[in-house]
Amino acid sequence: MQMHHADSAISLLYVEDDPCTREIVTSIIARRLPGMVLHAAENGEAGLALFKRHRPDIVLTDISMPVMDGMQMAFNIRSIDPCANIIAVTAKDETRYLLDAIEAGVSRYLLKPLEFGKLFEAIDDCVARVALQRQTMVQQGFIRQLSRAMEQGPSMMMITSASGVIEYVNAKFSKITGYSPEEVLGQNLLITLRNMTASHDLDLLWSTVSRGAQWRGEFMSRKKNGELYFKEVSVSPLTDDKGSLTQFVALMEDITERKEMQEKMRRLNDELEQRVKERTMEMEAANRELDTFCYSIAHDLSTPLRGMSCFSSILLEDYREQLDDAGKEYLNRIESASVRMGQLINDLLKLSRVTRGNLSRKRIDLSALAQEVFASLSACDPSRRVEVVVAKGVETDGDPGLVGMAVKNLLENAWKYTGKEPFPRIEFGSCGHEGETIYFVRDNGIGFDMAYAPKIFIPFERLHGVGEFEGTGVGLATVQRIVTRHGGRVWAEGEEGRGSTFYFTLGARRH
Ligand code: ADP
Repeated sequence: MQMHHADSAISLLYVEDDPCTREIVTSIIARRLPGMVLHAAENGEAGLALFKRHRPDIVLTDISMPVMDGMQMAFNIRSIDPCANIIAVTAKDETRYLLDAIEAGVSRYLLKPLEFGKLFEAIDDCVARVALQRQTMVQQGFIRQLSRAMEQGPSMMMITSASGVIEYVNAKFSKITGYSPEEVLGQNLLITLRNMTASHDLDLLWSTVSRGAQWRGEFMSRKKNGELYFKEVSVSPLTDDKGSLTQFVALMEDITERKEMQEKMRRLNDELEQRVKERTMEMEAANRELDTFCYSIAHDLSTPLRGMSCFSSILLEDYREQLDDAGKEYLNRIESASVRMGQLINDLLKLSRVTRGNLSRKRIDLSALAQEVFASLSACDPSRRVEVVVAKGVETDGDPGLVGMAVKNLLENAWKYTGKEPFPRIEFGSCGHEGETIYFVRDNGIGFDMAYAPKIFIPFERLHGVGEFEGTGVGLATVQRIVTRHGGRVWAEGEEGRGSTFYFTLGARRH
């Protein structure tokens, strides 16, 4: 038996007036039940005093004793502790006390001479009862704690019968809903949900919990004062030892505030998204307008420019004799300025064309494209010896016209900015990085200071003067627009006097 709890040994009070019997019985009990705490007294009065002091779990007492007999003592003990376990021992001729003994709450009755078998049977019986009493007490404590937690907990709680009749609601439930326990106990749970929830939700709830599974969800309910509120509900079925459904426990949380917050956030986000959309559209429209403006200016400028150039050449040819050297020189300058202006206008038109028209995506063989560009560059400039390295099999998906223009721009720059290098070398290739293909053009030319790197993609920004290298400063801006239209990026690395590398991606993720 598991009654000998380490922290609380079971104790027994033995009351017997005959010192000899007292001695023998005490020592036998001590030997048989070594873990038991024993107290002994010689009469009812002394026994009662010991009982009051030690509150033993079991009382074993003789009946006829001087001063106070066992029956009297049993009465007194019972009035102190109605659950006391009392075993009375008496002589055969005292059986007339039997009724009194029952009345006194004696739980066991043994006859003299004492049979130890019977005695221990009675004691064991009491010990089992004590163990049960203790266990019940522990459980009751646990239940008390649980119910306190339920009563004072932060969540609303409801217990219903298996058929949904409300058996319990905690204080939080009453506080939030405004319904007192008296108003809802005995009512069907559906009353608190009526009209508030789509019926298929409820059907799902019932089918889930009747299977013995937990159900979680959100409900909208009405408080007693008519106010609507959102609650998060989890319903768990309770079963008995045999596994049959006895009750449901519902834990509910008022989430109205949280819901309102979420709704507010959602509305804010929508508003923000809308505003960003509008702003983007505005900016796109402004950009388009600017492009159109640029295009028409560039376009409209070509005609007067052609006039200027034309008339200055006529002047130079037909009135050569009337002009002195300074006059001829000025006309020559007008002529070359208009040629340069013509280049600028052409490049501007090219740049604005990049953002017009539809983008088609096709397979492009970039290696072949690069080879062609190099071939035409060296055909135009046969005196230059340039070491050209083009990686094989570099391909991409993109708009052939635009991607061709971008690659051509980069290669032409590399060609141009290696012009003063005794052993020029230009490389075209690609590499994969985090699932993205990066294309690059590398040269060992003049390079540039990295501090100016962001500037070079701005139209007309040049790091090198026209006297040094020809150009309009529109090439890289064009490359950037083309790459951006494809969903890619372009960037550059360089060092003054040590060459530069231009990298770009085209949005399509493949190695
Ligand atoms: P540009 O017509 O002047 O070449 P780009 O837009 O193509 O115009 O280039 C802008 C500027 O970036 C150039 O003026 C030059 O200073 C710098 N740059 C471009 N490519 C290179 C390169 N391969 N090496 C060094 N500098 C370069």
